[in-house]
Amino acid sequence: MSHDPNCLFCKIAAGQIPAKKVHEDDDLLVFHDINPWAPVHVLVIPKAHIPTLADAQPGHDALLGRMLGLAPRLMKQLGVSNGFRTVINTGPDGGQEVYHLHMHVMGGPRPWAKG
Ligand code: AMP
Ligand code: ZN
Repeated sequence: MSHDPNCLFCKIAAGQIPAKKVHEDDDLLVFHDINPWAPVHVLVIPKAHIPTLADAQPGHDALLGRMLGLAPRLMKQLGVSNGFRTVINTGPDGGQEVYHLHMHVMGGPRPWAKG
């Protein structure tokens, strides 16, 4: 399924729910986390509905690579110059709350609220 009408992040990708976007292209969207753990905390999502990293198929490898490759460029663009953290929570034991694949990218001076 490439779009799930009940999925929060699909709704954000479709523009049905507002988000503070920092990057958008044909395949990916990046927006600020609504409840940031760090001074800069963005979420990188594929526009296509992939519920978890465990649902990604070999055909998604290029997409996953692009998500990772985008992280340092975004952090630079957002003024983060002293390192950052990337996190993908997967499934119940991974602490995933929103079941649309997303990568957290967090940076900025410590201390952070969490993480
Ligand atoms: P996870 O636990 O990895 O599934 O993280 C889900 C993340 O989505 C949390 O950090 C939430 O703060 C964030 N989040 C939930 N709703 C929204 C929203 N409407 N806009 C931006 N971020 C959100
Ligand atoms: Zn979705």
